[in-house]
This record gives sequence, structure tokens and C-alpha cells, in this order.
Amino acid sequence: MDMMKLLQEFMLTPAPSGYESEMAYKMVEQLTPFCDDVRIDHVGNVIGKISGTKGPEMPRLMVFAHMDQLGFIVRRIEPNGYVQVDRLGGIPEKVLPGLQLLIRSEDGKWHKGVFGPKAHHATPAEEKYKVDLVTSLYIDLGAKSDKEVRALGIEVGCPVIYKPAFEQLMGTRVTGTAVDNRGACAALISIAEKLHADRPECDTYIVGTVWEEFNLRGAMMAARTVKPDMAIMMDVVLAGDTQDLGTRFEDKLGEGACVSLYSFHGRGTLNGTLPHEPMFKLCKRCAEENGIPLQRFASLGIVTDAAYLQLEQDGVACLEMGFPARYTHTPIEVCDVSYLVSLSDLVAAMAHGVDKDFQLNRY
Ligand SMILES: [Zn+2]
Repeated sequence: MDMMKLLQEFMLTPAPSGYESEMAYKMVEQLTPFCDDVRIDHVGNVIGKISGTKGPEMPRLMVFAHMDQLGFIVRRIEPNGYVQVDRLGGIPEKVLPGLQLLIRSEDGKWHKGVFGPKAHHATPAEEKYKVDLVTSLYIDLGAKSDKEVRALGIEVGCPVIYKPAFEQLMGTRVTGTAVDNRGACAALISIAEKLHADRPECDTYIVGTVWEEFNLRGAMMAARTVKPDMAIMMDVVLAGDTQDLGTRFEDKLGEGACVSLYSFHGRGTLNGTLPHEPMFKLCKRCAEENGIPLQRFASLGIVTDAAYLQLEQDGVACLEMGFPARYTHTPIEVCDVSYLVSLSDLVAAMAHGVDKDFQLNRY
């Protein structure tokens, strides 16, 4: 499997929270050759099943990654044709003025636009170093009036995304939009390919989830179909090797897959994930036995859909894993594709490491 090519295809697929269908259909297409059954549930999660050699007597394993990306929602169309938006997900407002965008009309087509910054020459000195809130920015589609915008089928409630972008940097590094979380979606396909070629004992469900950037709860719906005993979540973690984070975290872009040992959002959600220790031990053992470099990550201020999935049924054993990415939630996120391969090797090895006596209780 060509991970670089697949990542490129996924990164260029527009799929903001709530509008994941294009990405979901691509996941179905990619998973179908490797799964015994692939379905899309009511809310849009893609669920592929790879039957294990001893399925029914074994714990059920769900491996999942969110398919959606962050964006904006149209709030008002001005009479002169400019479009106001609110954010959909954790948008960094510092990077917005001057960006290219795509706006989805109600017939599903995507239209070009830009966030017009204030005219530089006319900006007073005291405003030059201030961040403009997204609610004060306007999208310019080139339209002369609201009628022209509405004629395209763009109305209040339509989603907007950063214009999809993908560029290869030096070596195996790439930059662009939605590295979060199309990197893990590409890893999911690679895991399915490996488990199809060499089936583990347990039934494994490969799941692309919806709504993570919106409310984190799409994965809960998938769990109600899959009924997993244990789950591995994959998403980006913050690379600790940028100029600003170099002394805050230990993980680096080019040094391996990651396991997250603490996430907690606070800020109202009061949710996060503490790792299921037997699963963490399985992860460490599989990394050691297979010579796969494994980095550790822990941070306040972060939450993933694993935090909600773990609360399903009578408690799902959960482990958060991932790959380091720089400049998260901007349109120029950077990751190293070779560590998506490491991540998929490690998760596939973990599926093989699950036996019928695997300890599902935390202790
Ligand atoms: Zn993410």
C-alpha cells in the first residue's frame, strides 16, 4: 500500500464535521477489499469487520480514527455578498486572514472563497498586532451581492473548510490540511490490509468516526453497533519538536508512533482518557517485540473521542494512540508518513496480541 498516495487522497477530500460523506465513501471503497463486512451507521460512521480466527470466544476489538475535519458554518450573508461565519471546531483565529477556503452549497458542490484581511496600508499601527476574531472576518467569494451568493445555493448553515492542500516536504514529511486526522485514517486502511492478510484471533472492527471536531460523540454511536470490549483510538498528538513546544513535550516528528498516557480537556467538558493499563502493557510489549519505536505523550487541554467511547456499555477498555503532528488545526499541519506505517504495524501487532484471557478490567 502506498501510504503517501493514500494520505494525499484523504487530505484532499473535503469532509467537515456533519458533512463527512465524501470521506466515508472513500473509506468504504478502501476497506471493502480487506473486510468481511463494511457498513455506514445512521450517523455516518464507517464500520468494517475483519473476523478473527476464534471470533466469538474472544474480546471484540475496535480500532478507530475520526474522519471529519474542522471548519466553519455560514452565519449571515451580507447584502453586498460578503459571508460571515462561526467556527466549527477548534479553529486558531491567528491564522485565518488571507486564507483560501471552500464553501459547500446545498447541492453538495464546493465553491472558492477567501478570508479577506483588512487592507494592510490602511490598518492603524495599534491594530496590526491584534488577532481578529473569526466573528469579525468576512469571506469574499467574488460575489457582488447576496443574491449572487444565494444563487449558488449557499445559505445560512452551509459548511466552510480551509481549501484542501497537500505538499510533500523533504523526505517522508508532508504538509497541508487535515493531517488531523486523515493520517490516522490512512493508518486504519493499512491496519485492515495487514489483519486481512494475517488474521488475529479476535474480531477486529476498523471504524472511521464522525463529529470528533464538533462534539466528540460520533464514536459513541459506532460503539453501540460494534459493542467493543476494547478499543484503540488513533489521532494526532502534538509534536514536541517545534520551536515553541521543544521544552514542553518529549515526542518528536521523526521518532516513532505515540501512545497518549493522559488527556484531559477541562474547559467545561471535564472529560479525558486515562489509559487502560493492561492495554498499555500490550502496546509496550508489541513495540518491543517488533522493534517499533514508541514515544509517550501526556497533556492537559486535549480530549479525543476515546473519552466518550470509554463510557459506553459497562466501560470499554481504551488506549489513545497516534502520531506526532506539528501546527495542529492550521492549514499547514506537518507529519512524517513513515511513522504512520510504524503506527499501523504496532496496532496490527496489538490485535494479534489479544487472547481470550486478556484482562478487560482495569485491575
Ligand atoms: Zn484529531
